[in-house]
Amino acid sequence: MQTIQKVLPAKKHIALVAHDGKKQSLEGWCVKHKSLLAEHKLYGTGTTGNLIEQATQIPVEKLLSGPMGGDQQLGAKIAEHEIHILIFFWDPLASQPHDPDIKALLRLAAVWNIPVACTEASADMLLSSPLMTSEISREIPDYQNYLATRLN
Ligand code: PGA
Repeated sequence: MQTIQKVLPAKKHIALVAHDGKKQSLEGWCVKHKSLLAEHKLYGTGTTGNLIEQATQIPVEKLLSGPMGGDQQLGAKIAEHEIHILIFFWDPLASQPHDPDIKALLRLAAVWNIPVACTEASADMLLSSPLMTSEISREIPDYQNYLATRLN
């Protein structure tokens, strides 16, 4: 696979998702980091997005609830380069009806090489990086080249 460099902007579009067993933890994390998060644009799955908006008063672009397609909507936005960071507190101690969608979301985040944090400790480290407030160049698949090789 050929790759290209693509820049993530200084103002990041951050997706926030938490399973039910982790919602309190993500809500608390967002309140703790409210002032840093307010510098960026936030997205969230239906329930998570509403809870975070209420707790922080920061506007959140709310998609569908995860089991209703919200994870898939976030995945599509990652593939379209609209979302730049994924903070996903998935619950390792509960099974989820939408497990294939969760896997697909994490897969697309890896395909498009965006920063991902799945635990509070890694989310703390990610948010404290100086790269949060500057542009970051990262390597992604060269889609035009990929398509050209398939059409020849
Ligand atoms: P929710 O979806 O924020 O609507 O609960 C999250 C999920 O379970 O993927």
